[in-house]
Amino acid sequence: MIDLSKYNNEPEFKTALEEMLSSLDESILSNAKYQQVLERIIEPDRIISFDVKWLDDSGVEHTNKGYRVQFNNSNGVYKGGLRFHPSVNLSILKFLAFEQIFKNYLTTLPMGGAKGGSDFDPKGKSDNEVKNFCYAFMKELYPYIGVDLDVPAGDIGVGAREIRYLYEAYKLYSGKNDCSLTGKPLDLGGSLCRTEATGYGVTYFALEALKQYKATDLKGKKVIVSGSGNVALYCLKKVTELGGTVIAMSDSSNAIYCPDGIDFETIRALKEDRRERIKECAKLAQNVTVLPSSKDIWSIKCDIAFPCATQFELDENDARKLIDNGCIGVFEGANMPCTIEAANLFISNKVIYSPGKASNAGGVAVSGLEIEQNKKNEHWSFEEVDNRLKEIMSTIFKNIYNMANQLGDEYNLVKGANNYAFVGLVDKMIKSGKHL
Ligand code: NDP
Repeated sequence: MIDLSKYNNEPEFKTALEEMLSSLDESILSNAKYQQVLERIIEPDRIISFDVKWLDDSGVEHTNKGYRVQFNNSNGVYKGGLRFHPSVNLSILKFLAFEQIFKNYLTTLPMGGAKGGSDFDPKGKSDNEVKNFCYAFMKELYPYIGVDLDVPAGDIGVGAREIRYLYEAYKLYSGKNDCSLTGKPLDLGGSLCRTEATGYGVTYFALEALKQYKATDLKGKKVIVSGSGNVALYCLKKVTELGGTVIAMSDSSNAIYCPDGIDFETIRALKEDRRERIKECAKLAQNVTVLPSSKDIWSIKCDIAFPCATQFELDENDARKLIDNGCIGVFEGANMPCTIEAANLFISNKVIYSPGKASNAGGVAVSGLEIEQNKKNEHWSFEEVDNRLKEIMSTIFKNIYNMANQLGDEYNLVKGANNYAFVGLVDKMIKSGKHL
């Protein structure tokens, strides 16, 4: 077994490696073909790191760190989001990029894995300051990306506004207009349904799993969705359309509880248009209770939970509360929101549990479809993209469920996803000579 102690100072990355390696089946670990690639697959191809110097509205210069981790391109161009958040560091970006290579393989589309971002915090900055930062960031990054090399997208702190500035800057500095970013606004060549894709995708995945394991669906279910950003918002919308009632959401300060159901348009306008805190919802809707901490969301009794905020937001104690309260399914919209201990508790209690690398792959899948449309100079209808998304989520579920069953562990979709993607990727690496 590989010694992971050299990653002790990269705790998030080390956790992602442990999760992957501990779930690989003995028949894979003992197979010489896979063993020879193991040490290679856990190291990124390259890490690009740079200073980003930008001006605030008073003309004062600030410096942030910028990064791009190009992890593995044996399944296609490097692909993965950019995150702007003060917590960003190389351990977090390596963990996200490593997860991304397996997630992208699961989509069945030809995409390798990458991730990037900066410790810049867009919160509290003016539009002009965000624009200055995005232009300065792209001035450093543009030589390393391109439609046939590396195609970044959004993530935490990088939404439609930031992608617009980043793509404008890319065109300015590179002189190209080649679809080297996805999640673009429609007028810059974006795809319909990309904004909705991750939140809709995790809901479609949940439907497949609920049908398979419990012969049920979302109608009449009480649902919790943590976060209130892009993924959480569109999960709220699709769950509601499919007959569920979202009774609680959160941001990094508070959770809200609303037994009558949370209205999509109220939260969308609050978070997307006005960029306010979720507790303000209590002033806009009836029967809303504001809970003092984001963590309080896991104490609310629900049938289904969608953790859609951030990594490690749900620990073993939270998992215990959800199980004791009768929760039957936990579907990750965020990347690794559940700790390994929480995930194991769900699995051993036969709560359906889906790892983010499978259930939140809808976003990158539609990014893949955005690249395809741009290359063909086509614009597909919302319905067409949404239907492709449904098919992809259904295929992901079936592939990993079948693998979990094959390994004799029906409720372990972590094993299912990791073994399925690992075997497929290693075969690609060997074919391309990348294991050498
Ligand atoms: P956003 O920046 O749009 O939203 C993040 C949300 O999470 C905000 O509401 C934020 O609140 C909230 N939040 C942050 N920390 C906590 C916390 N500790 N407890 C509760 N809420 C918290 O990001 P996205 O929605 O794009 O991304 C969310 C997750 O989904 C991330 O893990 C991301 O990597 C993953 N993901 C995103 C994809 C996409 O297409 N966008 C694709 C696949 C995965 P506040 O406003 O207070 O910061």
